[in-house]
Amino acid sequence: MVYDVVVIGAGAAGLMCAAQAGYAGRRVLVVDHANKAGKKILMSGGGRCNFTNLDTAPGHFYSENPYFCISALKRYRPEHFVSLVETHGVEYVEKAPGQLFCADSAKEIVRVLLTECEWAGAEIKLSTSVSRLERQGEGMRLTTSLGTIDAGVVVVATGGLSIPTMGATGFGYDIARQFGLEVLPTRPGLVPFTLSDSWKERAAGLSGVSVPTAVSCKEKRFVEPMLFTHRGLSGPSMLQISSVWEPG
Ligand SMILES: Cc1cc2nc3c(=O)[nH]c(=O)nc-3n(C[C@H](O)[C@H](O)[C@H](O)COP(=O)(O)OP(=O)(O)OC[C@H]3O[C@@H](n4cnc5c(N)ncnc54)[C@H](O)[C@@H]3O)c2cc1C
Repeated sequence: MVYDVVVIGAGAAGLMCAAQAGYAGRRVLVVDHANKAGKKILMSGGGRCNFTNLDTAPGHFYSENPYFCISALKRYRPEHFVSLVETHGVEYVEKAPGQLFCADSAKEIVRVLLTECEWAGAEIKLSTSVSRLERQGEGMRLTTSLGTIDAGVVVVATGGLSIPTMGATGFGYDIARQFGLEVLPTRPGLVPFTLSDSWKERAAGLSGVSVPTAVSCKEKRFVEPMLFTHRGLSGPSMLQISSVWEPG
């Protein structure tokens, strides 16, 4: 099999990329070892996917390379995605100012991306694992459970490490290392905190209680609710500050 572009990973990034490459006239294949495309999208936003935020701006992203967000957001704005979902007839609601969620289900966003791939002529093969990636002449060769696939270009869109039960792997990082790219240490972000034994016991009785908080760490401060859970602390303020906090 020979393709202009092979995308590894049928998540939000891979499907969006495959559709764009297809519209640009490339022969595109998406492979994913999971049995379903866009599994992480389905669980996003409590099952209704917060698919964009109208106030999206480079300053709201954490990155070792802040310029990446500046150039990406110059080329693709929240309004572009809103217009895309409207083209596909997705109904949505603005929950908090600027935060747009599907009115019905996150399945709608997966439907949009799969339809875009179909319209762009991109093929998708699920339950397909990639065991090897190597240079082959001017292009790349993939060894997969479907056999050998040659591609002019390979896009690695295998996502981050969170929720391995949804198919997440460190494959992208391994490939980066294989081709000599520097990989920075990874750490969790936008996650709840778990409390250790004594604190957990003290907080247990409050599980389910949400309180207004102002939470600070380093130069960041979030004034949003905090939720006590049976394992520790969650809610918007704690999820936000988790991206800044480091153990120790
Ligand atoms: C609980 C939760 C709620 C969230 N809510 C929101 C929200 O409301 N709004 C929002 O914008 N974001 C939300 N996010 C974040 C968002 O879901 C992710 O940022 C996004 O889905 C990541 O997309 P991705 O394509 O980069 O990666 P993924 O969705 O992880 O896709 C990667 C794909 O690659 C495949 N893959 C991995 N390794 C291999 C391999 N070796 N071979 C073949 N295939 C492989 C995986 O099976 C997967 O399908 C949420 C995340 C979580 C966990």
